[in-house]
Amino acid sequence: NAAPETRKFEAEVAQVLHLVTHSLYSHKEIFLRELISNASDACDKLRFESIAHPALLAGEGELQIDVSWDPQARTVTVRDNGIGMSRDEVVANIGTIASSGTRRFLEAMSSQQKTDARLIGQFGVGFYSAFVVADRVTVLSRRADLPASEGVRWESDGKGEYTLAQADLPERGTAVILHLKADEDEFLKGWELRSLIRKYSDHVAFPIRMPKEEDGKPGNEWETVNDASALWAKPRSEISDEDYQSFYKSLGHDFNDALAWTHNRVEGSQSFTTLLYIPEQPPFDLMMGGRDERKGLKLYIKRVFIMDAAEELLPNYLRFVRGVVDADDLPLNVSREILQHNRQLERIRAACVKRVLDLLEKLSRDEPEKYATFYKAFGNTLKEGIGEDPANRERIAKLLRFASTKGDGAAQTVSLDDYISRMAMGQDTIWYITADSYAAALGSPQLEAFKAKGIEVLLMFDRVDEWMLNSLHEYEGKKLRNVAKGDLPLDEADKKQQEEASKAAEPLVHKLKELLGDRVGDVRVSARLTDSPSCLALSDYEMAPHLARLLREAGH
Ligand code: ADP
Ligand code: MG
Repeated sequence: NAAPETRKFEAEVAQVLHLVTHSLYSHKEIFLRELISNASDACDKLRFESIAHPALLAGEGELQIDVSWDPQARTVTVRDNGIGMSRDEVVANIGTIASSGTRRFLEAMSSQQKTDARLIGQFGVGFYSAFVVADRVTVLSRRADLPASEGVRWESDGKGEYTLAQADLPERGTAVILHLKADEDEFLKGWELRSLIRKYSDHVAFPIRMPKEEDGKPGNEWETVNDASALWAKPRSEISDEDYQSFYKSLGHDFNDALAWTHNRVEGSQSFTTLLYIPEQPPFDLMMGGRDERKGLKLYIKRVFIMDAAEELLPNYLRFVRGVVDADDLPLNVSREILQHNRQLERIRAACVKRVLDLLEKLSRDEPEKYATFYKAFGNTLKEGIGEDPANRERIAKLLRFASTKGDGAAQTVSLDDYISRMAMGQDTIWYITADSYAAALGSPQLEAFKAKGIEVLLMFDRVDEWMLNSLHEYEGKKLRNVAKGDLPLDEADKKQQEEASKAAEPLVHKLKELLGDRVGDVRVSARLTDSPSCLALSDYEMAPHLARLLREAGH
């Protein structure tokens, strides 16, 4: 056996370790959830690889996860008989900044946004939570397709260096051994570990086993301590709200409850199950663009985990949805490439979209407070659907909420249906104004004439609104129009007054045109204003000023 080799962590890893161990301290028990989650992933991967290579499963029985403790040695061990890691994989996965998650985690933690380190599982840095409770961590791992002699022993105190050595490991899979810090004795109790497993990992789909406790010590007999079933495969009537919530938490690495969920089984020529959740708060990857590798929707085929397939199963504007899709009829050896052009998958995707929109409609109708919570968190994401999903445009438009001159201050609570129900006789246009902020929208001189006539105007001030409006010209047969664009509809009396005013102001208009030259397109006497002397207006085909500014900022 060669002597152990000592290596340094990459700079970013050292930084992550420091951040994780310091910011996670008040929720240190989640190390167990993260290690069990990794063990479960490893079992998923082996089961998937064994479809093509059945020999990989040979030798050992059922895929499972064992959690044990040793009061004398002061260790807690999580081991699995999953896929395991080769030497190179150990180095790549737990010694370097292999995943983009590490970088995103650092960005999130150092940005000014309110960050919550409890969500580290979402960033792919969960392994490092081991160092919150341990001052030394040993990993023993052997990949399922390698001989016993190619096992790896990795060890680190989490301070910047780790050692790597060859090890003889007759059993495949991975054991993570935590050498607990001096003041972490609470984790050396069987019942404590057991209650943490029940709390955070009950719905892991593999058996999690623990030794039965005898006189405060781990005995020789093992028992399964979690539910170990695929929750989504049970009938709805057998699942309690608590079950749904705890499954959500283990699925989404979230501490908060889900806001709502929808669980459906489709039987027929093509059968599948969907269990889809709407979170209460946006996860970080959503806030940070969420464009690279979307996670959150797991694709199973007959209960075998295949891959994270959020991109294949949900359009971008529903990227906040978390959940599981289990299809009965897809070939088990599907690849991402096949999925992209698969008719069956298209149907599943359409069903997912429909379920989510159904759920949102139901929330907006029956539970307006919950809907307001949803809209605050994800309303801007949903708006992208107006452009992205023309087939569902009307349904999405119905779900939108805006601030309005007849609404509740800056709160976005007015639906297009509310607006239409308040329209005056003969009004055939939904009027809106776009601006940088609520105050700017409300204070705009463009609104004066509308105020004077008592016409409601929607106030839009989110970045995405202009883009959305590019695709939303009509709703329920009513045109949507910007108050700053084109001519106002005038009634006969107004028209006469307007003509007279224009005539009277002709010399002034002439003078202004001379003065302003080609800095303006035209100078006109306006019917828009009642108090202010002048305002800038746009022709029907011009870009709104702040959109033009946005484009300039983006270098167009
Ligand atoms: P994530 O699980 O989100 O990828 P982690 O920090 O929890 O991030 O784990 C990093 C990586 O280390 C995993 O992606 C996996 O490749 C590897 N790994 C961790 N634990 C195990 C294990 N028990 N078996 C096999 N691979 C593992
Ligand atoms: Mg993990």
